[in-house]
This record gives sequence, structure tokens and C-alpha cells, in this order.
Amino acid sequence: MAGERVLIVEDDPHIGESLGRALEGTGYRATWVSTGAEALAAVAADPVDLVLLDLGLPDADGLDLCRQIHDADPAATVVILTARDEELDIVVGLDAGAVDYITKPFKLAELLARVRAQLRRSDPGRTGTRAVGDLRIDDGARRAWIVEEEIDLRPKEFDLLSRLLRDVGDAVTRETLMADVWDEHWFGSTKTLDFHVAALRRKIDRGDGPSRITTLRGVGYRLERR
Ligand code: CA
Repeated sequence: MAGERVLIVEDDPHIGESLGRALEGTGYRATWVSTGAEALAAVAADPVDLVLLDLGLPDADGLDLCRQIHDADPAATVVILTARDEELDIVVGLDAGAVDYITKPFKLAELLARVRAQLRRSDPGRTGTRAVGDLRIDDGARRAWIVEEEIDLRPKEFDLLSRLLRDVGDAVTRETLMADVWDEHWFGSTKTLDFHVAALRRKIDRGDGPSRITTLRGVGYRLERR
């Protein structure tokens, strides 16, 4: 679907730029970087759906980088771009965590078709997710979406949403939320909870309708089935 994030790791500016333009034109959010260091920084900063990884980079061994990207973001699908089409490179690349490879020179239409196929395969709507209405979360990958748009949640916001979703439609007491999301020996202010609920509402409530999270005064909160 549109809006998925594709990271292009490619030191050839002609290929990097044209791929970025083509992917953006198809509705993906594309980021182009030209070194291994930038690639790792990009993956650490923001979850990525798919990485197009050139094996021949100036500052990194492409296969090592593939492993590092896979370790940093196991949910990211890595597709190798390589001028080397020897079978061994491909086998080692797939061993290093890549799921597909495309040899250069490639046709743009073919590359876009392969990207689309890989993203369909890794569609989080297929497995491991829980949903209420148009809100969906993947606990394994720690990601959340409204419709197909990913929501950028801080760790405690994600934990809070995940905990509320476990008892969707039911009240979850403040004590339970503090114990499950923070720490079972929490002695601090429960203002922290209200602060995080407010932050979460700003991210998951859209438009001017009622909040997805209802405050139950003196009791706790309830995630609504809407
Ligand atoms: Ca290269």
C-alpha cells in the first residue's frame, strides 16, 4: 500500500536519485542514502519497510551491512541490488538476511514490481497483528497503524496502547496500567499515566469525533471499539 517506507542504499547518484523519484512517484516514502553509516543511522532513526541495498558501497561491505540492518530492524525486508551476478554472492546475500536480489542493470518496471511483491508479502495485515476498527498494532515489530498510515509511537505510548487493546472495550484500572506498562513497584506520580494517555490520544485520534480512549474518572481508561 501507499506510504510504506523504502530506504535506498546506493552510492551511484544517478541510480539513487532515479530510484527515489520512481518510488515516490509510485506512492512510497523513499529515502536515499549513499553510505553504510547513513543507512544504519536511517534504520535506527525510523522503522523501514523495505531496504534496497547496493552491495558495492564505499565505506562498508554490503553483506555485513545487510546483516547489521537485519539485526537493527528485523521487520525490514532487504532486497539486494548488485552488479555481481555470481551465484555465490546471491546465496551469501540471502544467507545474510536478504529476501531477494536484483542484478544491475535492471529495468525500473521490473524493480518496482519486485518491491511491490516483497511489500505485499511482508504486509503486516497478514500476520501477528491485532486490530480494533482501523487501528492495528504489531506487538512483535512494535508498530502501529491507522488505516495504512503508520503512527510514530514512543515506547511507553506503544506499551500503553498494547495494554489497553488487550482489554479493548473494557475498563483498565490506573493501577493495572501503572503496573503493566511501567513497573510493578511504581511509587512515582500517576500523572505520568495521564501525560502518556494525552500524548497517545494526540497520535491516534483523528478529526473532531470522540476520543478512542475514554477517561473513567477515578478508575482508569477504556479503549473503545471504534
Ligand atoms: Ca555501488
